[in-house]
Amino acid sequence: MNGRYAKQFILPEIGPGGQSRLDAGRVLCVGAGGLGCAVLPYLAGAGVGRITIIDNDRVDKTNLQRQVLFGESSLDQPKAIAAAERLHDLNPEIDIRAIDGRLDVDNVEALLLEHDVIVDGSDNYATKYLVADACVKFGRPLVYGTVTGMEAMVTVFHAKNGPCLRCLFPQAPTGWVPNCAEAGVLGSLVGMTGSLQASEAIKLMVGDSTGMQSLIGRLWVMDARDGQSRLMAVNRRTDCNTCSRPRDQITLQGAPASILQEIGVDEARALSDWIFLDVREPDEFAAGHIPGALNVPLSQLQNGTINPPAESRCVLYCESGVRCRTAADILKQFDYQDIRGLRGGLPAWQATADLHTHTDQGASK
Ligand SMILES: [Zn+2]
Repeated sequence: MNGRYAKQFILPEIGPGGQSRLDAGRVLCVGAGGLGCAVLPYLAGAGVGRITIIDNDRVDKTNLQRQVLFGESSLDQPKAIAAAERLHDLNPEIDIRAIDGRLDVDNVEALLLEHDVIVDGSDNYATKYLVADACVKFGRPLVYGTVTGMEAMVTVFHAKNGPCLRCLFPQAPTGWVPNCAEAGVLGSLVGMTGSLQASEAIKLMVGDSTGMQSLIGRLWVMDARDGQSRLMAVNRRTDCNTCSRPRDQITLQGAPASILQEIGVDEARALSDWIFLDVREPDEFAAGHIPGALNVPLSQLQNGTINPPAESRCVLYCESGVRCRTAADILKQFDYQDIRGLRGGLPAWQATADLHTHTDQGASK
């Protein structure tokens, strides 16, 4: 035993037995965003034997407010790879694997079965429900975390002896989790939430023979506005549509295709050869839009009465980002090399620029 783990090795709750179980542990972290960036260094530092990171996003300047594994030198790099490099520097004695891609219905089984503990660091409900359902189906504990604005939640779902995500919230909200781009998020609260997730993951690996109690069946809720946190009991529902079924009858639903990669206003301004498509309705467009943008209303895309312009790369924007994702799904049928969404939509642009308030152009019909 080298000195690397000395500080936790002497904890009676961990000790040599716990340390060797950590060394044998295999954790899959879904997402290397704010939560992942808080979870991962503590798992690596603690000596978890294998850590796999899956994320399909790239580092953006607006991530640096909370995604503390990254710095200016990581901008535009795949998050999974940049995170793995940082973790390798933190602890070169463990096996760290990076997957620059998305967790989906096709790869979730193999990934879950290769790991003992799954940590949810994702930022959208589609992925959260896919991971949660798959953890029930394939019998893996899930350390769940979510942060919206000033509020955070953490719990552990383990269908063997506790509830699952659908016992707590039977259905994913329709549409999308208001992600950080839309709802705003306090970076330090994300860090706190991810740290708690790391503690729960470590406890699952060390085991419960040491008197530690997992958050299985208990939901930690924190409101950063008044600093209060509380623990709420979560019970298993006998009519749960997931964990009350035989495992082979649990069907997994993939994330919709519209995980639209977003870029910030500063980056969007620096793009050349990209076209801006405003997917709001014509009256909204007339009231103000980004200079040079073309109006491609979502309603007209949906009913096929407009042909999107033939450009190779486009940035979509609307008011909040919701319509962009639907529009992106439709536009994927056309021959665009690259489609991005403008983070924060028109209000983010407005915060820093004057708008054209006249109707200068629209897309050709
Ligand atoms: Zn359930």
